Amino acid sequence: MMRAIQLVETGNLQAIDIPVPKPAPGEILIKVEAAGICGTDRHLYHGEFPSVPEKVLGHEFSGIIVDSGDTGMAEGARVTCDPNTWCGTCDQCLRGRVNLCSHNVATGIHRDGGFAEYCAFPASKAVELPADLDPLHGAFCEPLACTLHGMDLGAARAGEKVLVIGGGVIGLMAVQIAKLAGSDVMLMTRSAEKQALGLSTGADLAVGNEAELRAHWPNGADLVVECAGVDATVAMSPKLARTGGRVVILGVLPQGQQVPIEPFDLLFREIQMHFSFLNPFTHARAAQMVADGTINVAPLVSRVISLDETVDAITQPPRKGEVRAIVVPSV
Ligand code: NAP
Repeated sequence: MMRAIQLVETGNLQAIDIPVPKPAPGEILIKVEAAGICGTDRHLYHGEFPSVPEKVLGHEFSGIIVDSGDTGMAEGARVTCDPNTWCGTCDQCLRGRVNLCSHNVATGIHRDGGFAEYCAFPASKAVELPADLDPLHGAFCEPLACTLHGMDLGAARAGEKVLVIGGGVIGLMAVQIAKLAGSDVMLMTRSAEKQALGLSTGADLAVGNEAELRAHWPNGADLVVECAGVDATVAMSPKLARTGGRVVILGVLPQGQQVPIEPFDLLFREIQMHFSFLNPFTHARAAQMVADGTINVAPLVSRVISLDETVDAITQPPRKGEVRAIVVPSV
């Protein structure tokens, strides 16, 4: 038996004991080393993101292969898990739009995930990480892969002004990616702690609201990257883009929530708006960037918690200044 955190149903998350899974054909068994708690886990708990009952949550995780099943992968290797398993045959997959797959099976949502001591996982979606990597860092490959997709859509260029809204893990990674592109980067987030973290990880400027932003960039940004997942910041994003500018929305609002957008303004200023969903073909890039330190993830670890502390950490709002709580089952 093993300890696992199961979403029994919306609003009912429990630490329970369940059998250690057996890898099916094509799967490996992973001893989970680290799993990040994401905003989406809280959305799933609150019923703001579609969920499946009685599944173990946890979609940002990495660990050690302890049973390679029939796959031929090396037991003892450290891997990061791309949780999204596309079908490869639906209309969207055949067009290369795999993140829009009609039959995507997401580990940690549709099948048992990484908030557990062990996880059975499709070998084809596991990417090897170096043996000497800090085990906590493997948990950042998945959020980085999603952020990379958004930043690919936004296509930040050298010398451009890039505004990142929201100083959570997604926003703080977007800041680093924009800096790698050579952009001038401003982080807009309310807390002093996250502003300071943004500045120490690469942002040129950090502000708390629109008035402070306008004091620096009166005409707005070439690219606005919304990473807060809040109605007010989604609504303000196009207004904060300069005329002819671009917007990428990475943040997730609750299903059914609407925000006011002014089409006249978008049209007359020809604002391009993109919505970025998941991590199409970006997981291996993310793993490489975490492995070689191109993205500095160490400052994004706010605290390490045990499986038994995980229910509280998901059902409560994040602590003040917290970026990522990382679940370490061996704690
Ligand atoms: P997070 O930890 O909740 O970070 C969001 C941050 O936004 C908060 O830390 C908060 O920091 C800031 N914020 C909240 N209201 C704000 C406001 N009015 N103005 C400025 N900043 C504000 O979330 P995360 O894990 O980084 O994820 C960010 C969003 O991306 C979530 O909605 C998540 O569900 C979504 N997501 C999307 C994808 C995708 O594929 N598109 C993938 C993963 C995650 P302060 O307290 O400092 O303001």
